[in-house]
Amino acid sequence: MPEEYVIHARVYSPGEKPFKGTVLVEHGLITEVSRKLLRPRGYERIQSNAVFPGFCNAHVHAHMHSFAGKGIGKGYPEYFQELFRLEKRVTREQLYWDTLSFCKKMLLEGITRACNMSLHSRPIARAYSDSGMRARLAIAVKNRRTFLENERLFRIASKYERVTPDYGIANERETSKSLIEKVVLAAGKRNAGLQVHVAEAPVPSWLEGWTSVQYLDSLRVFSRNTIAVHCTYVTEKDVRILRDRRSWVVTCPVANVNVGSRIPPVRSFLGRGVGLGLGTDEPVINTSTDLKQEARFLHNSLKIPLHKVFDVMCAPGVIPRTGRVKEGWHADLVLSRAKSLKQILLGDRGVEHVMVGGEFLF
Ligand SMILES: [Zn+2]
Repeated sequence: MPEEYVIHARVYSPGEKPFKGTVLVEHGLITEVSRKLLRPRGYERIQSNAVFPGFCNAHVHAHMHSFAGKGIGKGYPEYFQELFRLEKRVTREQLYWDTLSFCKKMLLEGITRACNMSLHSRPIARAYSDSGMRARLAIAVKNRRTFLENERLFRIASKYERVTPDYGIANERETSKSLIEKVVLAAGKRNAGLQVHVAEAPVPSWLEGWTSVQYLDSLRVFSRNTIAVHCTYVTEKDVRILRDRRSWVVTCPVANVNVGSRIPPVRSFLGRGVGLGLGTDEPVINTSTDLKQEARFLHNSLKIPLHKVFDVMCAPGVIPRTGRVKEGWHADLVLSRAKSLKQILLGDRGVEHVMVGGEFLF
Protein backbone atom coordinates (compact mmCIF):
# COMPACT_ATOMS: atom_id res chain seq x y z
CA MET A 1 0.00 0.00 0.00
CA PRO A 2 1.46 3.44 -0.89
CA GLU A 3 2.25 5.61 2.08
CA GLU A 4 2.19 8.88 0.16
CA TYR A 5 -1.07 10.52 -0.82
CA VAL A 6 -2.09 13.78 -2.44
CA ILE A 7 -5.63 14.76 -1.45
CA HIS A 8 -7.59 17.31 -3.50
CA ALA A 9 -10.69 18.55 -1.65
CA ARG A 10 -12.21 21.45 0.26
CA VAL A 11 -10.17 21.57 3.47
CA TYR A 12 -11.93 22.12 6.82
CA SER A 13 -9.81 22.69 9.93
CA PRO A 14 -10.70 24.26 13.33
CA GLY A 15 -10.39 28.04 13.47
CA GLU A 16 -9.87 28.40 9.72
CA LYS A 17 -12.10 29.31 6.81
CA PRO A 18 -12.59 26.29 4.51
CA PHE A 19 -10.70 26.43 1.22
CA LYS A 20 -10.25 24.25 -1.82
CA GLY A 21 -6.74 22.90 -1.95
CA THR A 22 -4.26 20.08 -1.45
CA VAL A 23 -3.19 17.99 1.53
CA LEU A 24 -0.03 15.90 1.22
CA VAL A 25 0.36 12.82 3.44
CA GLU A 26 3.70 11.07 3.90
CA HIS A 27 4.52 8.25 6.32
CA GLY A 28 1.60 8.95 8.62
CA LEU A 29 1.95 12.73 8.83
CA ILE A 30 0.47 15.72 7.03
CA THR A 31 3.50 17.22 5.29
CA GLU A 32 1.92 20.06 3.31
CA VAL A 33 -1.38 21.94 3.22
CA SER A 34 -1.79 24.26 0.24
CA ARG A 35 -4.47 26.47 -1.27
CA LYS A 36 -3.15 25.45 -4.70
CA LEU A 37 -3.91 22.19 -6.51
CA LEU A 38 -0.49 20.53 -6.27
CA ARG A 39 0.28 17.46 -8.40
CA PRO A 40 3.56 16.00 -7.11
CA ARG A 41 4.79 12.87 -8.89
CA GLY A 42 4.75 9.44 -7.29
CA TYR A 43 1.86 10.12 -4.90
CA GLU A 44 -1.47 8.33 -5.06
CA ARG A 45 -4.07 10.99 -5.87
CA ILE A 46 -7.37 11.08 -3.98
CA GLN A 47 -10.24 13.38 -4.91
CA SER A 48 -13.13 14.12 -2.55
CA ASN A 49 -15.58 16.91 -1.78
CA ALA A 50 -14.25 17.52 1.72
CA VAL A 51 -11.33 16.59 3.95
CA PHE A 52 -11.33 17.32 7.67
CA PRO A 53 -9.68 16.00 10.88
CA GLY A 54 -11.23 12.87 12.36
CA PHE A 55 -13.64 13.84 15.15
CA CYS A 56 -12.98 13.09 18.82
CA ASN A 57 -15.50 11.36 21.08
CA ALA A 58 -13.91 12.97 24.11
CA HIS A 59 -15.83 11.00 26.73
CA VAL A 60 -17.22 7.53 26.25
CA HIS A 61 -17.59 4.17 28.01
CA ALA A 62 -17.51 2.09 24.84
CA HIS A 63 -17.65 -1.30 26.56
CA MET A 64 -21.31 -0.83 27.56
CA HIS A 65 -22.46 -0.72 23.93
CA SER A 66 -24.70 -3.82 24.27
CA PHE A 67 -26.80 -2.08 26.90
CA ALA A 68 -27.56 1.07 24.89
CA GLY A 69 -30.48 3.03 26.32
CA LYS A 70 -31.19 0.71 29.30
CA GLY A 71 -30.66 3.42 31.95
CA ILE A 72 -32.61 6.30 30.32
CA GLY A 73 -35.15 8.07 32.50
CA LYS A 74 -33.98 6.39 35.71
CA GLY A 75 -32.21 9.43 37.24
CA TYR A 76 -29.85 9.36 40.23
CA PRO A 77 -29.04 7.12 42.07
CA GLU A 78 -31.09 4.48 40.22
CA TYR A 79 -29.03 5.05 37.08
CA PHE A 80 -25.79 4.08 38.83
CA GLN A 81 -27.40 1.00 40.41
CA GLU A 82 -28.63 -0.14 36.99
CA LEU A 83 -25.21 0.48 35.52
CA PHE A 84 -23.28 -1.52 38.12
CA ARG A 85 -25.81 -4.37 37.93
CA LEU A 86 -25.26 -4.58 34.17
CA GLU A 87 -21.50 -4.12 34.33
CA LYS A 88 -21.05 -7.01 36.80
CA ARG A 89 -22.55 -9.45 34.29
CA VAL A 90 -20.17 -8.57 31.46
CA THR A 91 -17.41 -11.06 30.59
CA ARG A 92 -13.94 -10.02 29.39
CA GLU A 93 -14.71 -11.42 25.95
CA GLN A 94 -17.88 -9.34 25.75
CA LEU A 95 -15.98 -6.25 26.92
CA TYR A 96 -13.56 -6.70 24.03
CA TRP A 97 -16.22 -7.26 21.36
CA ASP A 98 -18.52 -4.50 22.62
CA THR A 99 -15.64 -2.04 22.61
CA LEU A 100 -14.39 -3.13 19.20
CA SER A 101 -17.85 -2.90 17.60
CA PHE A 102 -18.36 0.55 19.15
CA CYS A 103 -14.97 1.66 17.78
CA LYS A 104 -15.91 0.44 14.28
CA LYS A 105 -19.17 2.37 14.53
CA MET A 106 -17.30 5.52 15.58
CA LEU A 107 -14.89 5.17 12.65
CA LEU A 108 -17.81 4.89 10.21
CA GLU A 109 -19.10 8.18 11.63
CA GLY A 110 -15.74 9.89 11.07
CA ILE A 111 -14.53 9.64 14.69
CA THR A 112 -10.84 8.69 14.82
CA ARG A 113 -10.08 9.44 18.50
CA ALA A 114 -11.75 8.71 21.80
CA CYS A 115 -11.17 9.31 25.50
CA ASN A 116 -12.56 6.28 27.31
CA MET A 117 -13.20 5.50 30.98
CA SER A 118 -13.90 2.00 32.24
CA LEU A 119 -13.13 -0.39 35.09
CA HIS A 120 -11.05 -2.74 32.91
CA SER A 121 -7.72 -2.35 31.17
CA ARG A 122 -6.70 -5.30 28.96
CA PRO A 123 -9.82 -5.98 26.81
CA ILE A 124 -10.50 -2.25 26.30
CA ALA A 125 -6.90 -1.38 25.32
CA ARG A 126 -6.72 -4.37 22.96
CA ALA A 127 -10.04 -3.48 21.29
CA TYR A 128 -9.07 0.16 20.71
CA SER A 129 -5.70 -0.89 19.32
CA ASP A 130 -7.26 -3.52 17.03
CA SER A 131 -9.77 -0.97 15.71
CA GLY A 132 -6.94 1.33 14.54
CA MET A 133 -8.31 4.35 16.44
CA ARG A 134 -6.27 6.61 18.67
CA ALA A 135 -7.36 6.68 22.31
CA ARG A 136 -6.69 8.06 25.75
CA LEU A 137 -7.83 5.38 28.23
CA ALA A 138 -8.39 5.66 31.97
CA ILE A 139 -9.80 3.58 34.80
CA ALA A 140 -12.54 5.20 36.92
CA VAL A 141 -10.63 4.88 40.22
CA LYS A 142 -12.82 4.68 43.33
CA ASN A 143 -11.10 2.06 45.53
CA ARG A 144 -7.82 0.15 45.91
CA ARG A 145 -8.76 -2.47 43.30
CA THR A 146 -9.49 0.09 40.59
CA PHE A 147 -6.30 2.03 41.45
CA LEU A 148 -4.27 -1.16 40.88
CA GLU A 149 -6.17 -1.75 37.62
CA ASN A 150 -5.16 1.75 36.50
CA GLU A 151 -1.51 0.92 37.30
CA ARG A 152 -1.92 -2.24 35.20
CA LEU A 153 -3.28 -0.16 32.31
CA PHE A 154 0.10 1.61 32.05
CA ARG A 155 1.90 -1.74 31.63
CA ILE A 156 -0.62 -3.02 29.08
CA ALA A 157 -0.92 0.18 27.02
CA SER A 158 2.85 0.34 26.47
CA LYS A 159 2.37 -2.42 23.85
CA TYR A 160 -0.04 -0.33 21.78
CA GLU A 161 1.19 2.54 19.64
CA ARG A 162 -2.10 4.46 19.42
CA VAL A 163 -3.25 3.98 23.02
CA THR A 164 -2.23 6.53 25.67
CA PRO A 165 -2.89 5.58 29.31
CA ASP A 166 -4.24 8.21 31.71
CA TYR A 167 -5.20 8.01 35.35
CA GLY A 168 -8.89 8.30 36.12
CA ILE A 169 -11.00 9.47 39.05
CA ALA A 170 -14.58 8.14 39.16
CA ASN A 171 -15.91 11.42 40.57
CA GLU A 172 -15.73 13.77 43.57
CA ARG A 173 -18.49 11.87 45.44
CA GLU A 174 -17.34 8.25 45.16
CA THR A 175 -13.55 8.66 45.25
CA SER A 176 -12.19 9.55 48.70
CA LYS A 177 -9.98 12.59 49.27
CA SER A 178 -6.98 10.42 50.16
CA LEU A 179 -7.42 8.31 47.02
CA ILE A 180 -7.73 11.41 44.80
CA GLU A 181 -4.43 12.65 46.32
CA LYS A 182 -2.84 9.26 45.61
CA VAL A 183 -4.01 9.35 41.96
CA VAL A 184 -2.74 12.92 41.42
CA LEU A 185 0.64 11.94 42.92
CA ALA A 186 0.88 8.84 40.70
CA ALA A 187 -0.04 10.88 37.59
CA GLY A 188 2.69 13.38 38.48
CA LYS A 189 5.31 10.63 38.80
CA ARG A 190 4.47 9.27 35.36
CA ASN A 191 3.77 12.72 33.85
CA ALA A 192 0.41 11.28 32.78
CA GLY A 193 -2.93 12.90 32.03
CA LEU A 194 -6.12 12.59 34.08
CA GLN A 195 -9.76 11.93 33.27
CA VAL A 196 -12.38 12.74 35.90
CA HIS A 197 -16.18 13.05 36.12
CA VAL A 198 -16.88 16.44 37.70
CA ALA A 199 -20.13 17.99 38.96
CA GLU A 200 -22.45 15.69 37.05
CA ALA A 201 -24.82 15.87 40.04
CA PRO A 202 -25.57 18.80 42.40
CA VAL A 203 -22.76 19.81 44.78
CA PRO A 204 -22.64 17.37 47.76
CA SER A 205 -23.63 18.99 51.07
CA TRP A 206 -20.42 17.79 52.80
CA LEU A 207 -18.39 20.22 50.67
CA GLU A 208 -19.69 23.01 52.96
CA GLY A 209 -19.55 26.08 50.78
CA TRP A 210 -17.13 24.82 48.16
CA THR A 211 -18.16 23.74 44.70
CA SER A 212 -17.07 20.40 43.24
CA VAL A 213 -14.59 22.18 40.95
CA GLN A 214 -13.08 24.21 43.82
CA TYR A 215 -12.72 21.07 45.95
CA LEU A 216 -10.98 19.12 43.18
CA ASP A 217 -8.82 22.13 42.34
CA SER A 218 -7.60 22.24 45.96
CA LEU A 219 -6.36 18.66 45.35
CA ARG A 220 -4.54 19.79 42.13
CA VAL A 221 -6.72 17.60 39.92
CA PHE A 222 -6.93 20.11 37.06
CA SER A 223 -3.23 20.75 36.52
CA ARG A 224 -2.39 17.49 34.73
CA ASN A 225 -3.59 17.72 31.09
CA THR A 226 -6.92 16.92 32.65
CA ILE A 227 -10.17 15.97 30.94
CA ALA A 228 -12.95 17.25 33.21
CA VAL A 229 -16.14 15.51 32.13
CA HIS A 230 -19.65 17.06 32.49
CA CYS A 231 -19.08 20.17 34.66
CA THR A 232 -22.83 20.75 34.69
CA TYR A 233 -23.18 22.23 38.20
CA VAL A 234 -20.52 24.95 37.98
CA THR A 235 -20.25 28.66 38.75
CA GLU A 236 -18.56 31.39 36.69
CA LYS A 237 -15.62 31.18 39.12
CA ASP A 238 -15.36 27.44 38.40
CA VAL A 239 -15.28 28.11 34.66
CA ARG A 240 -12.38 30.54 35.17
CA ILE A 241 -10.51 27.94 37.26
CA LEU A 242 -10.90 25.31 34.53
CA ARG A 243 -9.68 27.77 31.90
CA ASP A 244 -6.71 28.94 33.99
CA ARG A 245 -5.61 25.32 34.66
CA ARG A 246 -5.89 24.60 30.90
CA SER A 247 -8.16 21.64 31.60
CA TRP A 248 -10.32 20.22 28.86
CA VAL A 249 -14.01 20.32 29.65
CA VAL A 250 -15.99 17.60 27.93
CA THR A 251 -19.70 18.11 27.67
CA CYS A 252 -22.24 15.32 27.06
CA PRO A 253 -25.51 17.33 27.01
CA VAL A 254 -27.87 14.64 25.69
CA ALA A 255 -26.64 12.10 28.24
CA ASN A 256 -27.02 14.76 30.99
CA VAL A 257 -30.62 15.47 30.00
CA ASN A 258 -31.39 11.73 29.90
CA VAL A 259 -30.56 11.29 33.60
CA GLY A 260 -32.35 14.48 34.65
CA SER A 261 -29.14 16.45 35.14
CA ARG A 262 -28.72 20.09 34.12
CA ILE A 263 -27.74 21.29 30.67
CA PRO A 264 -24.09 22.35 30.98
CA PRO A 265 -23.18 26.04 30.48
CA VAL A 266 -21.66 25.51 27.03
CA ARG A 267 -21.87 29.18 26.01
CA SER A 268 -19.98 30.17 29.14
CA PHE A 269 -17.22 27.61 28.43
CA LEU A 270 -16.85 28.88 24.85
CA GLY A 271 -17.08 32.56 25.86
CA ARG A 272 -14.35 32.16 28.51
CA GLY A 273 -12.03 30.29 26.16
CA VAL A 274 -12.17 26.91 27.91
CA GLY A 275 -10.93 24.03 25.70
CA LEU A 276 -14.13 22.14 24.97
CA GLY A 277 -14.78 18.62 23.69
CA LEU A 278 -17.93 16.62 23.10
CA GLY A 279 -18.74 13.09 24.28
CA THR A 280 -21.53 10.53 24.11
CA ASP A 281 -20.85 9.20 27.66
CA GLU A 282 -22.49 5.91 28.67
CA PRO A 283 -24.34 4.10 25.91
CA VAL A 284 -26.58 2.99 28.82
CA ILE A 285 -27.99 6.52 29.15
CA ASN A 286 -27.83 7.77 25.58
CA THR A 287 -30.58 7.28 23.03
CA SER A 288 -27.95 7.36 20.30
CA THR A 289 -24.28 6.53 20.42
CA ASP A 290 -23.69 8.95 17.54
CA LEU A 291 -21.65 12.05 18.42
CA LYS A 292 -23.67 13.98 15.81
CA GLN A 293 -26.70 13.80 18.07
CA GLU A 294 -24.73 15.82 20.64
CA ALA A 295 -23.66 18.20 17.84
CA ARG A 296 -27.29 18.68 16.77
CA PHE A 297 -28.20 19.47 20.38
CA LEU A 298 -25.45 22.13 20.59
CA HIS A 299 -26.57 23.74 17.33
CA ASN A 300 -30.37 23.35 17.44
CA SER A 301 -31.10 23.69 21.17
CA LEU A 302 -28.21 25.81 22.47
CA LYS A 303 -27.81 27.87 19.23
CA ILE A 304 -24.04 27.35 19.04
CA PRO A 305 -22.81 28.38 15.55
CA LEU A 306 -21.80 25.50 13.27
CA HIS A 307 -18.14 26.50 13.01
CA LYS A 308 -17.88 26.42 16.83
CA VAL A 309 -19.59 23.02 16.93
CA PHE A 310 -17.04 21.81 14.37
CA ASP A 311 -14.13 23.01 16.57
CA VAL A 312 -15.63 21.19 19.57
CA MET A 313 -16.09 17.97 17.55
CA CYS A 314 -12.43 18.13 16.43
CA ALA A 315 -11.05 19.02 19.92
CA PRO A 316 -7.58 19.77 18.52
CA GLY A 317 -4.80 18.75 20.88
CA VAL A 318 -6.77 16.46 23.23
CA ILE A 319 -4.31 13.91 21.87
CA PRO A 320 -1.09 15.70 20.79
CA ARG A 321 -0.91 16.73 17.11
CA THR A 322 -4.40 15.53 16.27
CA GLY A 323 -7.56 17.46 15.38
CA ARG A 324 -6.24 19.87 12.74
CA VAL A 325 -5.33 19.64 9.08
CA LYS A 326 -1.89 21.06 9.70
CA GLU A 327 1.66 20.37 8.61
CA GLY A 328 3.48 18.09 11.05
CA TRP A 329 0.24 16.79 12.60
CA HIS A 330 -0.93 13.18 12.36
CA ALA A 331 -2.72 12.27 9.14
CA ASP A 332 -5.96 11.32 10.96
CA LEU A 333 -8.34 12.47 8.25
CA VAL A 334 -11.87 11.96 6.99
CA LEU A 335 -12.75 12.18 3.29
CA SER A 336 -16.39 13.02 2.76
CA ARG A 337 -18.99 13.58 0.06
CA ALA A 338 -20.42 16.47 2.13
CA LYS A 339 -20.61 19.81 0.33
CA SER A 340 -20.95 22.10 3.35
CA LEU A 341 -20.11 22.31 7.05
CA LYS A 342 -23.79 21.72 7.82
CA GLN A 343 -23.73 18.46 5.86
CA ILE A 344 -20.49 17.40 7.58
CA LEU A 345 -21.85 18.02 11.07
CA LEU A 346 -25.54 17.32 10.87
CA GLY A 347 -25.98 15.09 7.82
CA ASP A 348 -26.39 11.34 8.22
CA ARG A 349 -24.18 10.21 5.35
CA GLY A 350 -21.11 11.41 3.58
CA VAL A 351 -18.06 9.71 5.09
CA GLU A 352 -16.22 8.00 2.22
CA HIS A 353 -12.88 7.08 3.76
CA VAL A 354 -11.20 7.33 7.15
CA MET A 355 -7.46 7.45 7.64
CA VAL A 356 -5.51 7.22 10.92
CA GLY A 357 -1.76 7.84 10.88
CA GLY A 358 -1.85 7.84 7.09
CA GLU A 359 -3.39 4.34 7.06
CA PHE A 360 -6.79 3.87 5.41
CA LEU A 361 -9.08 2.04 7.84
CA PHE A 362 -11.84 1.99 5.25
ZN1 LIG B 1 -19.01 9.02 31.98
